[in-house]
Amino acid sequence: MSPPDVAIVGAGITGCSAAYQLAKAGARVTVLDSYGPAAMASGWTLAGVRQSGRHPAELPLARRAVALWPDLESELGGPTEYRQDGNLRLARNPSEVETIRRLVAEQRALGLELEFLDDRGALGEIAPMLSEHILAASFCPSDGHADPVATVAAYVAAAQRHGADFRCGERVEAVEFEGGVVRGLRTSQGYLAAGSCILANGIGVNELLQKLGQSIPLRIPMVTVIQTAPLPPVLAPVLGVANADCAARQQTDGCLRVTSGAEDWHCDIGETVDGRPKVEPTTASVKRTIERIGELLPPFAEARVRRLWAGLLDLTPDALPVIDLVPGVKGLIVAAGFSGHGFGIGPATGEILCDLALGRQPRLSIDAFSFNRPALAGTNAEPAGLTLHG
Ligand SMILES: Cc1cc2nc3c(=O)[nH]c(=O)nc-3n(C[C@H](O)[C@H](O)[C@H](O)COP(=O)(O)OP(=O)(O)OC[C@H]3O[C@@H](n4cnc5c(N)ncnc54)[C@H](O)[C@@H]3O)c2cc1C
Repeated sequence: MSPPDVAIVGAGITGCSAAYQLAKAGARVTVLDSYGPAAMASGWTLAGVRQSGRHPAELPLARRAVALWPDLESELGGPTEYRQDGNLRLARNPSEVETIRRLVAEQRALGLELEFLDDRGALGEIAPMLSEHILAASFCPSDGHADPVATVAAYVAAAQRHGADFRCGERVEAVEFEGGVVRGLRTSQGYLAAGSCILANGIGVNELLQKLGQSIPLRIPMVTVIQTAPLPPVLAPVLGVANADCAARQQTDGCLRVTSGAEDWHCDIGETVDGRPKVEPTTASVKRTIERIGELLPPFAEARVRRLWAGLLDLTPDALPVIDLVPGVKGLIVAAGFSGHGFGIGPATGEILCDLALGRQPRLSIDAFSFNRPALAGTNAEPAGLTLHG
């Protein structure tokens, strides 16, 4: 069999949406994943799809993605569970009210439709079950959420229909190159020649880059996730908070899925469960998350817990991803460092990666996501705190 034009490392939302776009454009694509689709961040995620709270440089991607999400189910021919029910970012004290007020002013100046709500009536209309202690919120009606595992599966199936090959349970050990040009990948099962390679492997990206003398400064914190048993409808929009220390959404099946903020993580990834790597949250983090969400949304406090897990983030110093050609290695592209908000923009990221792999000018500017930007260099590369999520 002839080698693929493009080999993609990682079957999360980033790798799978790139695979779909490339296969649809007629390229021969192979995707390799140590586990399988949505095994890491794209399965661990809250899966909010938001423009609000985005860095100005990321807003064009978020807007493009929000333009794509409503038609994604019909385009891919599989469910995404996408709902465009908005995003409420809450203020729990006077200082958070000022943070939210500032956020709304800044983002409205960038053209985003975002309201500042500081009366109970307006908040209650959007989220009637919200605690009466909430003082104010921003509301972005065009934000929403989706099911991450279903969405990635829909991308995989659509890419396969266009001829893409998925190799699950195959770990990529190194990128092989010669004379500064990519030749292929060395994997746990052998060697795969390829015309170009995309590293879309999340927290694993530096394992491959370091063998090429490159790296992206990443901090890898943990986020606790709690999923309840199904409840009657209690929450339509995604909930976030001004300082990003928790977030929540109600899935289409009624389960609440809630997250903590980013917390230090010093452990190893444990055994696999259902073929996916497992990260265990701490009891202290679970307790904090239950308390915080219970204070925002009282029905959560009475719900039964169905599942608990933790996820890991690939956090860059400026909390922006790297989406770029790797300097000095022709044919190597990297898309990682999504810093806790790469799910919502996944459909737009896939389009950009397709452009890069086909040698075209990317349809949206990627200047802010460059591999060599000052924020990632030397002493500037201080770890970031988590920017707004949910
Ligand atoms: C708890 C949590 C909440 C979040 N909430 C949101 C949110 O509300 N909204 C939002 O937009 N984003 C959110 N994010 C972030 C978002 O989920 C991620 O940015 C996004 O899923 C990243 O997708 P990815 O495809 O780049 O990486 P991943 O989904 O991590 O995929 C990388 C894949 O690469 C594979 N891999 C790694 N190394 C190798 C190797 N050497 N060989 C082969 N395969 C390899 C892994 O198995 C994995 O499947 C959240 C993340 C977490 C953890």
